[in-house]
Amino acid sequence: MPSSAVGRGVPALRYRRALARAAVRAAAAGLPVVPGAWWSTAERRFECDVAGCTRTGPHPVVPAAYGGLGAIAGEGLAAHAIRHPAAVTARWRRAPYAVLVPTGETCDVVDVPASTGRTLALRLDARSELGPVIAAGARWFFLTAPGGRLPAWGGDTLVHGLGSWIMLPPSLGPGGEPAGWLVRPGRTGWYLPTRDAVLRELDGPAVPSQRRYDEALRPA
Ligand SMILES: [Zn+2]
Repeated sequence: MPSSAVGRGVPALRYRRALARAAVRAAAAGLPVVPGAWWSTAERRFECDVAGCTRTGPHPVVPAAYGGLGAIAGEGLAAHAIRHPAAVTARWRRAPYAVLVPTGETCDVVDVPASTGRTLALRLDARSELGPVIAAGARWFFLTAPGGRLPAWGGDTLVHGLGSWIMLPPSLGPGGEPAGWLVRPGRTGWYLPTRDAVLRELDGPAVPSQRRYDEALRPA
């Protein structure tokens, strides 16, 4: 399905509806959403509907003045978030937007390699502290409550807080790989463990994310 995600025909329409449903569900659960650029299978890059936008990686679809230099300030992005489900439905009628959630306000995300993610999920589950988890490519994303006291200082774990954002399934990640829920939020009633509870179970240190997918993960 993802290969024809932004193509034509019934699969594309179904996929587009799935994106809109995911955006509405997130908003209804209290997560503000921002429309994101979508992966174009034909062009092998991300596309959006902002006139003159030249960015090729994943990015929020917000006014050019905001994202022009690629410098993303989380507070600024949250100001562009759509919170009302009806407004989300209306916006997602325009294009097959990816579903982005600014972090730092309603949730943070601990972003780890899949190999670390498996261990982390087992440890959190054993403590009844496993919240929603997303897999995309080689990374696992653990949603947490925003904020925390544990420091972040290097390693292959990223913490997405203020100044960053994440993509919700079924958005397509860099290279067109699908993001999927490993633990659906509905299963845990949108329970979010504290960020510290998740970081505490890691063997190594974490760093605050500088959200630069656009530069770092631009498809070759
Ligand atoms: Zn764009």
